Amino acid sequence: MVSTTPSRPLEQATADGALPILSHWIDGRPVEVLPEQTGPVYNPATGQVIARVPRGGAPEVDAAVAAAAAAYPAWRDTPLIARSQVFFAFRELVWQHREEMAKLVTRDHGKTFPDALGEVVRGLETIEFACGLPSQLAGLNTPNVATNVDAFTLRGPLGVTAAITPFNFPAMVPMWIYPIALMCGNTLILKPSSHTPGATQLQAELWTEAGGPNGTFNVVYGGREAVTAIVEHPDVKAIQFVGSTAVGRYVYETGTKLGKRVGSYTSAKNAMLVLPDADMELTADAAIAAGYGSAGERCMAQTLVIAVGDTAEKLRPLMLERIAKLNVGPGMEPGVDMGPIYTREHRESVVRWIDKGEAEGAELVVDGRPFVHPTNPDGFFLGVTLFDHVTPDMEIYREEIFGPVLGMVRAETYDEALGLINGHKYANGTAIFTTDGGAARRFKLEVEVPMIGVNVPIPVPAGYLSFGGAKESALGDLAMRGEDGVRFFTKQKMITERWPEPGRRAALSLVFPGNT
Ligand code: NAD
Repeated sequence: MVSTTPSRPLEQATADGALPILSHWIDGRPVEVLPEQTGPVYNPATGQVIARVPRGGAPEVDAAVAAAAAAYPAWRDTPLIARSQVFFAFRELVWQHREEMAKLVTRDHGKTFPDALGEVVRGLETIEFACGLPSQLAGLNTPNVATNVDAFTLRGPLGVTAAITPFNFPAMVPMWIYPIALMCGNTLILKPSSHTPGATQLQAELWTEAGGPNGTFNVVYGGREAVTAIVEHPDVKAIQFVGSTAVGRYVYETGTKLGKRVGSYTSAKNAMLVLPDADMELTADAAIAAGYGSAGERCMAQTLVIAVGDTAEKLRPLMLERIAKLNVGPGMEPGVDMGPIYTREHRESVVRWIDKGEAEGAELVVDGRPFVHPTNPDGFFLGVTLFDHVTPDMEIYREEIFGPVLGMVRAETYDEALGLINGHKYANGTAIFTTDGGAARRFKLEVEVPMIGVNVPIPVPAGYLSFGGAKESALGDLAMRGEDGVRFFTKQKMITERWPEPGRRAALSLVFPGNT
């Protein structure tokens, strides 16, 4: 490792034409690495390598954990209001830099600039929630639980904590975790996805600029080796992981076996249920937005439309009208609806899923495979795909594709459609489209998916509420953010305290103390 002076990450090529190299961020400083210890960062719209990102492992994780452990006691003891003031300053800086951050998201990920800006602003909601956390951290106080005895509870931090985050929301998902961990008095190591590093590094720099003490918020880049080092590190007390179920299960099982608190928020396959009485224009808009927004690379994308009765016949032509008008292109171009897939490999994986859907017998209504962008032929672009007559025995029904591939499923009745949603192994988000309040009410009570929309296709709860799925979409008892996030990043202490009145001391007794 080689330490250098601070610099803005991911600026364009340096004066000598070499690619910029991102740095780990440890103890409030960038920690640069040698070029041979890095991997490429691509701009998916052009297919070109734009920067290099460090491949960290155990030495970098050890250094970050040591910095976080050293910073912990002072940060834990920093008065709540003083911590909150750092957050107010941080909130202002993120707000001022929101467009710069969104540009980094678009460049690394490919999603459109307005979509990236939306992501940053939804992330800011949780920073704003953290600014006001002191009131949520208050405990209970019960005087006189016994003679001269008072009881109270307090919520204390855990120590060094970690966040391991995915490529698809490089600004928002970290912002859903570290503000709460830090405001509760913990210190943190963030291990973001190496595919989309620019926005993450900017957040760490802004935290330091806002007055966040050195060592409280550290960033280590890397893949499997860095993750293993975090999960196995004895000084890391709690981890929130967001990403695929396979990796999330490893993090959860290994981390909890080692006595850590772990929450893994994982893969998804979300379905929207459409009743025949739904407003079909609104529903068609919703299906297209939820299925193809961000090229389907959202854990809350609705990639199955379960159409009840004759709904599919009404909905399909409306969806086709909208698909015909979609503009696929580089995310920074005005008027573009959908950007490229984030990597070449993932584009190929989505193509293989479309091949599979065809082979499984689903009706391929719109085929995104042949799409080539006219001026960016090396970009990782794919058109949108629509399958109809998708059935539950098909793999394209059961598995997450994470691309712009929407499947229409036909059900005879509401009960059949509900049974399909409740029978799926994933349970992250769902939605019902109807004009019947009674049906919507029934759905809210009966559906076994925690995040529910009623005529809302992507029901991501507001930033002060919790976010989390069930079944194979989440491992662990507590959701991210909101009330659950505060519980996750704190440990409750229950204190029983006696202050005898002057001159009144009870006699020695070996009887189990009663509350009298
Ligand atoms: P991923 O599982 O490949 O990566 C997530 C993190 O784990 C990254 O930091 C990555 O570097 C690391 N990682 C990757 N492979 C690893 C390995 N073999 N061992 C150890 N660590 C490894 O996920 P992704 O492709 O970045 O993100 C997409 C997935 O995330 C999708 O499944 C999506 O549904 C899910 N996701 C879930 C939520 C949610 O809240 N439930 C939110 C966003 C994304």
